[in-house]
Amino acid sequence: MDIFAPLDLSKEKQDSGIESTEKVRCLIIGSGPAGYTAAIYAARANLKPVLYTGLEMGGQLTTTTDVENYPGYPEGITGPEMMEHFRKQAERFGTDVRFGVVTGADFSGTEHVISVEDNKRIVADAVIIATGATAKYLGLEAEKKYAGMGVSACATCDGFFYKQKDVAVVGGGDTAAEEATYLAGLCNKVYLIVRRDVLRASKPMQAKVMNTPNIEILWEHQAVDLYGENGVEGAVLVRKKGTPEEATVKLKIDGFFLAIGHNPNSGIFKEYLETDPAGYIKTIPGTSKTNIPGVFAAGDVQDPHYRQAVTAAGSGCMAAIDAERYLSELHK
Ligand code: FAD
Ligand code: NAP
Repeated sequence: MDIFAPLDLSKEKQDSGIESTEKVRCLIIGSGPAGYTAAIYAARANLKPVLYTGLEMGGQLTTTTDVENYPGYPEGITGPEMMEHFRKQAERFGTDVRFGVVTGADFSGTEHVISVEDNKRIVADAVIIATGATAKYLGLEAEKKYAGMGVSACATCDGFFYKQKDVAVVGGGDTAAEEATYLAGLCNKVYLIVRRDVLRASKPMQAKVMNTPNIEILWEHQAVDLYGENGVEGAVLVRKKGTPEEATVKLKIDGFFLAIGHNPNSGIFKEYLETDPAGYIKTIPGTSKTNIPGVFAAGDVQDPHYRQAVTAAGSGCMAAIDAERYLSELHK
């Protein structure tokens, strides 16, 4: 049987609004470091990968300026430029890169069915999910205004730019505790802005924060605005909001770090794939394999811990190798 033969579309078009169905061997969803790296490996292994970019072509790094911790760029590089390099390298080996958003998945059979923009259906033997995770923001207008100019959701990525400066971290969970401790090693002073009078972070992480002399916890404070001429120069906070003691205070800072959690972009796959309570896709440790044979996950969508470009790229490589081995078994 020719597994790449076009399917008969006439009936399904009448039934469902699907305008075309296409059979592919390896489908990659996402165009961040994980998706493009998977594509480079899959294309070189002759899997003829088709990659859908999603709305954010190039992924999260296209929203940042300098990337200084990705190996191979001794002088650093801007995020958008780096992701252009990734795309070109993936295309050089024959990846079919397409702009489009995946809107649905059906992993109930041996062939995996993916809907794109609700009118195209892809039937894939192997699927690599590399849809990333999105940092949560407070929803302030000022966060958009100062994006890349003092507002960050990644201390490991941007902390270096605030050496010996004063910064604030928002959040009370393990991520906030970890980011505050990391920044305390670089910055002059770190304010941890916590909305309640307790931390959600684990006891050992709390102890770390409490025992770091240049971290000051601002209990029961909420950030409501940021100010500054050409970047963040301070934050406006409300203390004990909604109580008789409510007060507005100004905090002079150079950097404002969000650490209030991430949303992994796994919603459309959740019916079939096992996820952890936060929604990260579970993979078999040491592999990119999910609970569905032939469906692999790479990058931030399956990584609650590291969420770095280099770890995403590494897991993209793993996913392509796992997919290649799966396909060679399938077509034996
Ligand atoms: P992402 O880069 O998030 O890419 C996800 C891709 O999936 C996107 O292309 C998106 O369009 C696509 N997608 C999502 N949903 C769909 C869908 N339904 N259909 C089709 N496609 C979809 N890391 C570092 O190592 N160094 C840094 O300096 C650094 N700086 C950062 C600065 C900022 C502002 C941010 C936000 C992150 C930074 N990071 C940095 C973290 C790094 O960007 C991520 O760890 C990395 O991008 C994760 O790669 P990924 O491929 O898993 O996902
Ligand atoms: P999290 O546990 O959900 O904590 C989010 C924190 O942000 C909470 O303190 C929450 O406050 C606060 N928050 C949420 N929305 C807010 C808002 N609008 N304004 C102000 N504060 C807000 O998220 P996380 O810290 O990213 O951790 C996610 C998971 O990863 C957890 O299971 C965590 O244990 C794990 N993790 C583990 C490690 C580690 O073990 N080293 C490191 C990082 C993460 P409330 O407490 O008031 O809800």
